[in-house]
Amino acid sequence: MNQTYQSPLHNVPFIPPGRIAKRASRLITEYFEKRGCLPSPPIPVELILQSELGFSISYGQLEEEIGPGVLGALLMEGKEVRFDASLCEHGREGRHNFTVSHEIGHLVLHANLLKQTDFLITSGTPSIVCRNKSTDPVEVQADKFAACLLMPEDMVREKWEEVLAAPWPLCLDEYESACRKRMPFAAGRLTIETWNPFFGASDLDTLYKTITGHLVPHFRVSKQAMRIRLENLGCFVRQSEQMALI
Ligand SMILES: [Zn+2]
Repeated sequence: MNQTYQSPLHNVPFIPPGRIAKRASRLITEYFEKRGCLPSPPIPVELILQSELGFSISYGQLEEEIGPGVLGALLMEGKEVRFDASLCEHGREGRHNFTVSHEIGHLVLHANLLKQTDFLITSGTPSIVCRNKSTDPVEVQADKFAACLLMPEDMVREKWEEVLAAPWPLCLDEYESACRKRMPFAAGRLTIETWNPFFGASDLDTLYKTITGHLVPHFRVSKQAMRIRLENLGCFVRQSEQMALI
């Protein structure tokens, strides 16, 4: 294998975001129901991949074996998902879990399409190769699925309420106003000092980092993934957007 690998799925049909979320939710429900427990985070995505979908997990030097930026590869014939060994390094648990969930996304959303292609599947040849930050529609769909699987909206809202007890959505203008006045920002159990004599005034990044820092341990995702998910769920708004909702 080399960098010239071509995906067999060039033109995947559009899947509405709501349908992607439902497919992820169904998988979570099935997994927990079989074990007689209520769904709760963190979602055990490795176990889901192995026990629910029947795929084995292996690790290797994918960048060397396949090409730059490759973090995961799906081998349909051998029912194996291969990950780059760098994902096992300390501090990469969130990235690792997201990549596992991304591959589950391919299996749930695209496995049937793969079967319909006349793509030559030979022993050891990946059916899908996943590169970091790919904008290919098939990859974007798998990323969306991964976010829904690891951070289901109902669980995010529940933890938000439990951990922060802050309003949802949170108004960014109110935070910025507190920053300008050098006043502490308080919302529910969340309190942020917006002024530090050594570092000066805080900015929105401080707000995002504080909130994601509280939620990340419950979902075992990266701070970046959590922030993107919160933004996509509409939990940060401007006053003008709030007015439009009234
Ligand atoms: Zn992929």
